[in-house]
Amino acid sequence: MLFSKMFIPTVKEDPKEAEVVSHRLMLRAGFIRRLASGVYTWLPLGLRSLRKVEQIIREEMNRKGAQEILMPAVQPKELWVESTRWEKYGKELLRFTDRNNRELCLGPTHEEVVTDLVRREVKSYKDLPVTLYQIQTKFRDEIRPRFGIMRSREFSMKDAYSFDTDEAGAGKSYMDMYEAYNNIFDRCGFRFRVVEADTGQIGGSFSHEFMVLAETGEDIIISCDTCGYAANLERAEVGVAQKAVSGKKGAHRRVETPNQRKIDEVSAFLGISPDRLLKTIIYNTDKGSIGVLVRGDREINDTKLKNLLKLDELELADERTIEEKTGGPLGFSGPIGLSIPLYADMDLKFMEDFVVGGNERDVHVADVNVGDFSVTGFYDVKVAVPGDKCPRCDKGSLVATRGIEVGHIFKLGLKYSQSMNATFLDSGGKEHFMVMGCYGIGVGRTVAAAIEQGNDENGMILPLPIAPFEVDVLPVNTTHPESMEAARKIYNELLAKGVDALLDDRDERPGVKFKDCDLIGIPLRVTVGERNLKEGLVEIKRRESREFEKVPVSEAAGRIIKYVEDAKHR
Ligand code: ATP
Ligand code: MG
Repeated sequence: MLFSKMFIPTVKEDPKEAEVVSHRLMLRAGFIRRLASGVYTWLPLGLRSLRKVEQIIREEMNRKGAQEILMPAVQPKELWVESTRWEKYGKELLRFTDRNNRELCLGPTHEEVVTDLVRREVKSYKDLPVTLYQIQTKFRDEIRPRFGIMRSREFSMKDAYSFDTDEAGAGKSYMDMYEAYNNIFDRCGFRFRVVEADTGQIGGSFSHEFMVLAETGEDIIISCDTCGYAANLERAEVGVAQKAVSGKKGAHRRVETPNQRKIDEVSAFLGISPDRLLKTIIYNTDKGSIGVLVRGDREINDTKLKNLLKLDELELADERTIEEKTGGPLGFSGPIGLSIPLYADMDLKFMEDFVVGGNERDVHVADVNVGDFSVTGFYDVKVAVPGDKCPRCDKGSLVATRGIEVGHIFKLGLKYSQSMNATFLDSGGKEHFMVMGCYGIGVGRTVAAAIEQGNDENGMILPLPIAPFEVDVLPVNTTHPESMEAARKIYNELLAKGVDALLDDRDERPGVKFKDCDLIGIPLRVTVGERNLKEGLVEIKRRESREFEKVPVSEAAGRIIKYVEDAKHR
């Protein structure tokens, strides 16, 4: 392409609304434009990157035998009622009514539609397994759209769904997608990490997230510094530190703590550190009120708690419930004498002579020990923090890093096939439910993640496989005929070999052209300057390095072609 003919509306100033670097650079480099909150137009450069990501995804999905389809954005309410998600999905699901008063929604995901398709068309075990995928526009009415296309309301997703006859088959389909995703993110040129993710009540470790490592990422990854354990914060388990503790009881005493409710207030007032306190948190759940006990310096992980107790609903109890269940006001709850079930974090096993709430206004109890009350059991219910012991190996401790979730794979089991009655007949004519999996990649978010991972003060540093152009041929002086002739020659040789080349034929100052080339992150640049050309040379520069390499005009295209091939087959 000729730069002069391209629609590349770049911006010099940093846009105010952009909080993260990818959003800022995508606006400045003319990749995207905002139409409404969380709704964006892709401009030619951005779209070229998006299409390259799509192409890599297609190739790797097809290689695993997945087949591409395209489902509608508009979905009927009835299917969502069948799966019970019409009620459960909440406000992210954009619902509307047509002229015939039919209720519809914009698809935030396609389990319902694809399950309906497959249950109608697949009757026999002979037609299974099958994995279908699409690259399609989703709509989620996100509560806080932000970071440009990283968390938008309308966005492009690759979503795939597998259908198998049994667990073993479903496990294989899952592993195929696991491998495909690794290949996809490798080929995109990412530094990424696969982590165990929350599976809700389905349980097992059959969900993984693919996280691009970036300090600006919204997600926290917890991993072991010694073994391969890695999980997102929601799911991260904590190992048990073995410390002996005595079995004392009965020595506790009442202490007055006027108006001291919070952990830091009580610990300051009593002059002890927060880890000498035990928090008693009362929750309302779909299985009644419960109390959860955790050391004063730690937080409860609601996701782990919900999974442990197989809860659909979990929320902090209101003041009235607290008074009713404990006899005392908010801020003074303690485990002694409570009749609701108490679930204790593991740490409690190793605590001695600690302080708890007195279930009475302005009162705490000190020198309490585990024997002074009864708990249902000891569990891992706290939020992991760096320095915690690894849950898998003996030696490791946990560390935290940040990442951007670009992909998520999930073993669904019978969840949708049961609720939507998707069955097949086995060889003996017996009916069974299909075993399903689902697999998503945020295509736009993948482009943004590449920019979060690769940038400097001058702009984007994009991995070659997904950069909008692979090389920019840049004649410094477009009015110098020999320069233009050499530039055109190199450019045409590159095009003939299928290299994605841009020729900056604009009659602009060299500084402007260099800046634009850097801003839009083109990985390779061939600079054709008058002085070098006198010696028959041009300069090749990689976006990420400061070094120039001088090569003869006749060798420039060959060298570039080699670099492009190397980058694509790392
Ligand atoms: P998140 O926790 O970031 O909201 P999710 O768990 O809701 O993601 P999935 O339902 O698993 O996401 O969707 C699959 C993929 O789609 C995600 O891994 C992510 O890359 C992408 N994605 C999800 N929501 C958005 C969004 N609002 N904007 C852009 N991409 C998104
Ligand atoms: Mg979400």
